[in-house]
Amino acid sequence: MILTAHSCAKCGSTALHKNGSSAGKAKYRCTTCGHQAVFAPAEPARAAQREQVNKLLEERNSQRSIARVSGVARMTIARWIKKKSGPG
Ligand SMILES: [Zn+2]
Repeated sequence: MILTAHSCAKCGSTALHKNGSSAGKAKYRCTTCGHQAVFAPAEPARAAQREQVNKLLEERNSQRSIARVSGVARMTIARWIKKKSGPG
């Protein structure tokens, strides 16, 4: 199942209420347990990570060394290479 809505990090509830903002990011408060947090989208961080991996790949580093440097799982890197090399 793919979750499209934010869920509380503490109790997993999706009953969240927008509660102001911090550094331009919306803050949410869980109406179930009262936990409050900023839900930063994972996308920008992931894109930056992927860019770093691509750069390392262009320098012909090994998958294992890239995994060590970037913190991305080796199998994830292998999947990205597969995607880059074309359909199939
Ligand atoms: Zn909660």
